[in-house]
Amino acid sequence: MPNQIQVLDPHVADLIAAGEVVERPASVVKELVENAVDAGAHTLTVEIQRGGMAMIRVTDDGGGIPTDQCQTAFLRHATSKLRTAQDLAAIGTLGFRGEALAAIAAVSRVELFTRTAQCDLGTSLTLEGGQVLSQEPAGCPLGTTLVVRDLFYNTPARLKFMKRDAAEGAAVFALVQKLALSHPGVSFQFIRDGKRELMTPGDGKLSSALYAVLGRDMALGFTPVRGEGEDVTVTGFVSLPACCRGSRTYQHFFVNGRPVKSKLLMAALERAYENQKMVGKFPGCVLQLQVKASQVDVNVHPAKTEVKFLHERQVFDGVYYGVLSALQGETRHPTVTFAP
Ligand code: ADP
Ligand code: MG
Repeated sequence: MPNQIQVLDPHVADLIAAGEVVERPASVVKELVENAVDAGAHTLTVEIQRGGMAMIRVTDDGGGIPTDQCQTAFLRHATSKLRTAQDLAAIGTLGFRGEALAAIAAVSRVELFTRTAQCDLGTSLTLEGGQVLSQEPAGCPLGTTLVVRDLFYNTPARLKFMKRDAAEGAAVFALVQKLALSHPGVSFQFIRDGKRELMTPGDGKLSSALYAVLGRDMALGFTPVRGEGEDVTVTGFVSLPACCRGSRTYQHFFVNGRPVKSKLLMAALERAYENQKMVGKFPGCVLQLQVKASQVDVNVHPAKTEVKFLHERQVFDGVYYGVLSALQGETRHPTVTFAP
């Protein structure tokens, strides 16, 4: 006899859903930082202990969460960023699924401290395995602090798959560097086991963020890019041909402020170096693409690192000719115009 078909218990369904959003400490950090940026933070601090497995703390000076909405924020599909199906076509925030906080809370012990400008007193809320333990008024600075402890304490199967703390910590650090580069207007601090390892000035200049993240010597090997196509603007920095490296570690692409992985963008970048660099060496880049929200679908994958462009050719050309012109200084493309 086949087993009876049954709708899953909500708690089990939550744990399964959580596993898709929260893969490892770095995915928690990504969601929390994106929430902070969406909340308008100018300064944010990411702190981890034991690679993020023991503790992750993200503190921001953004708008905060009103007291009466603190618990709602942790419900699945609860978001302040999306209302209608039409909104999906033009998303202006990094988050929109309303899944992250619910997923993180389902597989850890969470403390929230938050205050909005409208209130003198903030809120402290604690949850364990997604269940609310307590909510109290609390004096706290403007903005939000989220503390995530004991990640995957209640999902041993997942816990087993975590790498050593050092490897998880390294993944978090790489991610924070990427996020800092994608938001030069936000000052990022990263503290690992009590030691500060990164601080970006948040002055809005990509060059300043690049300098802080890569260090002086490496930053000097980059040259600015500025390209403009019909529906795409490309700005940022790419390696000088002589400063290409043995791996693609330093390729960072951002579409409308969101870190993305894209074969199309990688191919466009590397095509521009054809015949200019040594075989087996790869250019580094920090390229920010601004694409009309209606020309790009970020809704492809839950982790949202993949994008689909409506007009791939235009995007490819925008990057290719933008980079080529930066490397050569004179190349022009008939349909693409470049600022100096
Ligand atoms: P999403 O970001 O997709 O909306 P989340 O589960 O990440 O979903 O967050 C749920 C809601 O909680 C957000 O829509 C936002 O209103 C609020 N929120 C989360 N983090 C913060 C933060 N750091 N500052 C202010 N509001 C926040
Ligand atoms: Mg979010």
